Amino acid sequence: MHDLTCMIRGCQAKVYAPAGTHSVCRAHFLSYLTWRRRKGPQMFMKYAGMTMEERDPYVAEWANTIRVEEAPTASAPKA
Ligand SMILES: [Zn+2]
Repeated sequence: MHDLTCMIRGCQAKVYAPAGTHSVCRAHFLSYLTWRRRKGPQMFMKYAGMTMEERDPYVAEWANTIRVEEAPTASAPKA
């Protein structure tokens, strides 16, 4: 947790809270919280008991959904 800015690429906001062994800004922390809520209460409970290292894969999975949202017109599937 030595990051000074958000771990999300392209985001220059100041860190607000830890996300695994990294740190995210307030906006991305709330986004991550929402993402975890969507996974259901069991995921929420499980996550609370995890170490920072164990949380990293979830942070990475969530971070991937962020990048998709930022580039929505990359490639449209051909029917
Ligand atoms: Zn951010």
